[in-house]
Amino acid sequence: MKTVVVGGGIVGLCAAWALRRAGADVSVVEQGVLPNPLGSSVDQHRLIRYPYGAQRGYLRMVREAYHGWERLWGDLKMRLYAETGTLILSGAGDGWAKESVVALAAEEIEHLAFDAETVTGRWPMLVGDGLDDAYYCPSGGVLFAQSIIAALSGHLRERGVPMLTGRTVAALDAEAGSLTLADGNTLRADRILVAAGPWTGRLLPDLAPVSRPSRQTVVYLQPPAEFVAAWHAAPMLLEIGAAKGFYLVPPRVTRDGMRTGLKISDHRFGPTADPDGNRDPSSAEIDAILDNARHRIAGLEGYRVLQGKTCFYDVEPEERLQFRRLGARGYALCGTSGHGFKFGPALGERIAAVLQEKAEFEAAARWAAGHIIEVPAAASDSSG
Ligand SMILES: Cc1cc2nc3c(=O)[nH]c(=O)nc-3n(C[C@H](O)[C@H](O)[C@H](O)COP(=O)(O)OP(=O)(O)OC[C@H]3O[C@@H](n4cnc5c(N)ncnc54)[C@H](O)[C@@H]3O)c2cc1C
Repeated sequence: MKTVVVGGGIVGLCAAWALRRAGADVSVVEQGVLPNPLGSSVDQHRLIRYPYGAQRGYLRMVREAYHGWERLWGDLKMRLYAETGTLILSGAGDGWAKESVVALAAEEIEHLAFDAETVTGRWPMLVGDGLDDAYYCPSGGVLFAQSIIAALSGHLRERGVPMLTGRTVAALDAEAGSLTLADGNTLRADRILVAAGPWTGRLLPDLAPVSRPSRQTVVYLQPPAEFVAAWHAAPMLLEIGAAKGFYLVPPRVTRDGMRTGLKISDHRFGPTADPDGNRDPSSAEIDAILDNARHRIAGLEGYRVLQGKTCFYDVEPEERLQFRRLGARGYALCGTSGHGFKFGPALGERIAAVLQEKAEFEAAARWAAGHIIEVPAAASDSSG
């Protein structure tokens, strides 16, 4: 059975990885180069962490996500990850931190409660004002996203997976199993997986409402000399709220000497835009990101802006990942809404199991959408 995967981001490549691992015939079609710097998956880093507000289903998926990454590191023979720990701060004020901690406790994820004084004592580059609660999880860290996409593409090529780069799928017929490329060529497949990220709605207009391309700004900063060492040892910061807040990725030096930067952004969804349009962030977009964090980062005006960057989320209104069936032979995974990277290998494995008819589509779709699926005790006991 031959599968064609449309899209060489983390979802498409991980699905191809899991299919190839299971012995399947699979190829990947990617409109850009690999890694494609315009894809959602390609930046220095993406985060993996347990705190998920009230979204318990996704918190549970993080456990599976970690297992998936371990299998991928084994195949890649390298570990493109740095554990940083996770510090969640209550200052955004609308309960995300509290909801997270209730779920962490219920799921027995290790965490500690800190007061503002402890936070600023341990991390003097932070301001404690307005901080009612803070919680620290020793788990959580930085996935070196661009390096992962590069290593995974290389691994797939070594495993004999055709990677058709610079080829755009212009149309597909999921009943017949055919894909028409922009250059006029046609590909045939028994199964098609569309993993086109923010371009999904262009190829599959019916999915546009659950895959809105949303323009997001990230800012890389150079901290003042006195805080460089502290940031290199700092956890990721999450001060998430509907109206205000930010997240911060601390800088790291990887084992092979690669340096990644201190990055700051927010998780609020941006305006709808064309992912092939102008990507230069305006100074207003950069300032808006910095303004979200000024209250929490001491002397932020002394940090130098190294780079502002525009990336794209593909947004589902409730942030639920969408695994959809398209006719007899097709599937799509979209709507990853700014939190899908961490699930890449786990998603790839589920998708591969469905495409190979080893798992039920409906259950996989509910799981991807973050709905808690209770496994009956007898079934989990017998699985060993
Ligand atoms: C700024 C930012 C921060 C984020 N932070 C996190 C985080 O901390 N943790 C986390 O888990 N997630 C995070 N995410 C979300 C995560 O990066 C995405 O959910 C994930 O990368 C989506 O992967 P994808 O494979 O679906 O899409 P993409 O990576 O966009 O891949 C889709 C690919 O399909 C190709 N393509 C599209 N259409 C066609 C076509 N017609 N023919 C051929 N090729 C096509 C594109 O060129 C692209 O390479 C973040 C996202 C952004 C933008």
